[in-house]
Amino acid sequence: MKTDAGTEGECSVIQDIYPKTYHNEYEHKKPDEDAAILIYQGQRCLMHVDRDGEVLFPEKRECQGKLYYTYLFRIDDEEYYLGRYLSEKEVEPLLKKGFKWEDIREFRTGEPRDRCFAGVTGFQLGDWYRRHIYCGSCGAVLEHDENERMLRCPECGEMYYPQICPAVIVGVINNGRILMSHYRGRSFKKFALIAGFNESGESIEQTVHREVMEEVGLPVTGLRYYKSQPWAFSDTLLMGFFCELEGYNDKITLDQEELLEAGWYLPSEIPEDTDRASLTGEMMSLFRECDGELPIEFPERFEQMEDNRHIRTGLFRKKRR
Ligand SMILES: [Zn+2]
Repeated sequence: MKTDAGTEGECSVIQDIYPKTYHNEYEHKKPDEDAAILIYQGQRCLMHVDRDGEVLFPEKRECQGKLYYTYLFRIDDEEYYLGRYLSEKEVEPLLKKGFKWEDIREFRTGEPRDRCFAGVTGFQLGDWYRRHIYCGSCGAVLEHDENERMLRCPECGEMYYPQICPAVIVGVINNGRILMSHYRGRSFKKFALIAGFNESGESIEQTVHREVMEEVGLPVTGLRYYKSQPWAFSDTLLMGFFCELEGYNDKITLDQEELLEAGWYLPSEIPEDTDRASLTGEMMSLFRECDGELPIEFPERFEQMEDNRHIRTGLFRKKRR
């Protein structure tokens, strides 16, 4: 699959902006002068990144060109708007002020985390708006609904909502080891877990079974849901599961188109520099930090895991051979 999750950096999973709160209810309104404006061009966002990796977006008062604003969301009291332009000259004043087109991957490791989360989530919505100017059924220009984030066709009445694709991340465990792999032909070179998109007519549990079978040829059992993650880079909602190998045959049959290699690894063999912005990285880190003994209950936030050490049970360790 193409979630491509993972890169350098020791930070929290990308949607974890605690103690701040993300409010995504749509409001049909215009930006105040101090609203943050998210402007995108392909995979790049107009922003300022200082030496410490702190990200800054232009405020409405700084946008002198002709931009079309769409309300996106707010984080606590900070409001974010999408700024769209027809001609590049509209953003020239911002470039003169020192804002630059930066790759959206900066958001994985940048600071502060709430602003970076806004940057990726705004990218996902901005990309959806960009691809939904016209009605796919009749070709008329779509209009924004006033009550919710929905585009409606004034001619045929067709309604369009942001698209979210469910996918799974799977940590397969066998006798104190976890299955990790390397993708083939991908810029991302670090360890990954089994991953794949849900397909039509399939439950998310069936996706887990199918993806593990397709990628490494193994049956699994005892699925345990860990947590989910919005992965805006690919319009995805990732759902993380741990499960166990079913039976005693742990021989991997590799899907050579997807994977370069895959193997069983001890907690101590998991690199410490896994990307904590991604769910994949967090799941691998969890297995390492719990020394292969996953807790009975998964708390909502990774950091809370410390408090739960006493309820560790070694659920996946009982199966000795
Ligand atoms: Zn239409």
